[in-house]
Amino acid sequence: MEKLVGFAPIIISIITSLIICLVIRKNKKLLLTFSILLLIINVVLGCYTLKTPNFVLLGDEKIEINVKSNFSDPGVEASIHNKDLKEKVTTDGQVDVNKVGEYTITYNLKYLISDETLSRTVEVKDKETPVLTLKGDSEFTLYSGATYNEPGCTAMDNYDGDISAGIETKKEEISDKKYKIIYTVKDSSGNEAKIERIVTIVDPPKPSSSKNGVIYLTFDDGPSANITPHILDILKKQNVKATFFIINYSDANEYLVKRIVNEGHTIAIHGYSHDYRSIYSSEQAYMNNLNKLQEKIKNSTGVKTTVTRFPGGSSNTTSKFNPGIMTRLTKLVIANGYQYYDWNIECGDAAGAKTKEQVYNNVVKYLSKKKSNLVLMHDFSGNNKTLNALNDIINYGKNNGYTFDRINEDTPAIHHGVNN
Ligand SMILES: [Zn+2]
Repeated sequence: MEKLVGFAPIIISIITSLIICLVIRKNKKLLLTFSILLLIINVVLGCYTLKTPNFVLLGDEKIEINVKSNFSDPGVEASIHNKDLKEKVTTDGQVDVNKVGEYTITYNLKYLISDETLSRTVEVKDKETPVLTLKGDSEFTLYSGATYNEPGCTAMDNYDGDISAGIETKKEEISDKKYKIIYTVKDSSGNEAKIERIVTIVDPPKPSSSKNGVIYLTFDDGPSANITPHILDILKKQNVKATFFIINYSDANEYLVKRIVNEGHTIAIHGYSHDYRSIYSSEQAYMNNLNKLQEKIKNSTGVKTTVTRFPGGSSNTTSKFNPGIMTRLTKLVIANGYQYYDWNIECGDAAGAKTKEQVYNNVVKYLSKKKSNLVLMHDFSGNNKTLNALNDIINYGKNNGYTFDRINEDTPAIHHGVNN
């Protein structure tokens, strides 16, 4: 229809000219003048009719948007002689705002004899930096000589998701007692994030001076239903405080853990499991075993104990299947706020002593007023020899001027030499 309207003036002028030409064909001069006039009119009319439509992009030719943001196409302007031609425009090309990339949108206008195409590029970019989150504190205190155990860091990106595996760490000295760990990560679009952790090295607290003439009775591997209650009864009667290095306990034995605390003894950690093979398989395994029991004791009693003893002692060689593990662990437990206690007298109830007399002799023979006496005993199930020797050991100590005490965080630590 528009084509007819557009060409109508031309057609009408041609018909009119033909009629006029027929009428004035005898007068050559007039015919020539009229023909020239007609030609001019036709050229002007034609140019006007076939004028190119106004067809331009609205907005920029190149648009950048952030991934996952909204995009609305600004479109084009298409008109001729104030007549809107937007309906004549066909648009091609899609922008996926969820996918980084360069997209092209083309706009085509077909009107009369004009056929024009415009195009626009939309670049979907990931401009957001990933978010780094430190596990553990951003300021970390480490005892000198202890191994820094990296707590780790996570990186989440709005586009790539979890990119923690790509985190790079770098250590930078601040002073000889302070350094920082710098964590950096880049997402797939090259946006870089950075976070730091400050590590300060301090000297470990010095053990207080040794308490000569004090006997610290310690019971390992309990609690047991048939020995621990009787040991507690004797201690209560004698008004002696002791220390219990316990392992995991059943619900039925939880009351014994509560009794230990309520009756003024020290609840201490031997380890959730006592199995050498598993607990000494790695530093992580050992610390998990320690922390797990610490948490359980806290839930049972409200006490967060940091007093601990290595299964087998810090001098054990049963951990040799993992070379150097004791060298590392003895530093690591202290760096994690624990103190470990070995012993300097053993009653032998887990190593050869078969009678209460043997247990008694193994202890009293080695007591000395010139040292603090840390006595290793056990309250595991069925250990009657120790149970039956306990009263006599306490009486011997009292009669010979010794005092009894429980271990607490201030008690001077007794450490064996490390053999692995
Ligand atoms: Zn043990």
